[in-house]
Amino acid sequence: MARYTESVCRLCRREGQKLFLKGDRCYGPKCAITKRPTPPGQHGQSRKKQSQYGIQLREKQKTRRAYGVLESQFASYFNKAASMKGITGENLLSLLERRLDNVVYRLGYGESRAHARQLISHGHITVNDKKLDIPSYIVNTGDVISVKERTAKKDYFKAIREEGVRNLPKWLTLDAENLKGSVIALPQRDDIDLTIEEHQIVELYSR
Ligand code: SF4
Repeated sequence: MARYTESVCRLCRREGQKLFLKGDRCYGPKCAITKRPTPPGQHGQSRKKQSQYGIQLREKQKTRRAYGVLESQFASYFNKAASMKGITGENLLSLLERRLDNVVYRLGYGESRAHARQLISHGHITVNDKKLDIPSYIVNTGDVISVKERTAKKDYFKAIREEGVRNLPKWLTLDAENLKGSVIALPQRDDIDLTIEEHQIVELYSR
């Protein structure tokens, strides 16, 4: 599958906000957005005012990059969101948030969504006690997401057991001792901590 291979910090600088793509570094002084919050490239500081289309496009790119999904996947999430009951933009964010790689990241099992995807595709994660290696799996209320017993012995997970995780959203619970995370509700708009104007994405796809 095609993947972005350049520095992910450039993506944050391009979007002008933290997308939290690098784990702990994102919270420290070495974060590129903290050090140099201008867009990358020679003319980064002198970019002109954006058109309405440009604003909508950036909002879509920012969201897609934060969740690490490809263009075609993102478009199919949008189509699915549009066919669901409720507000399309909120449905879209809820679907992205319910991806297994995002949930593994939110539970703290992965330092970033990319790390979470790797854990899943390498078979370290179970859903309802069965190995599941599909990062795009959409979780449902009642699902229990765990780390395989052998993997759970690694130092990284020891730290979670001892210290818990930061910013656990209220639609998830975590039994840190046993590394068992549960989906207790579906994510609502105010559970999504990224600054996203989803109506711009809806307008982009409605053109
Ligand atoms: Fe890099 Fe993380 Fe900062 Fe983004 S938030 S610029 S990925 S360190």
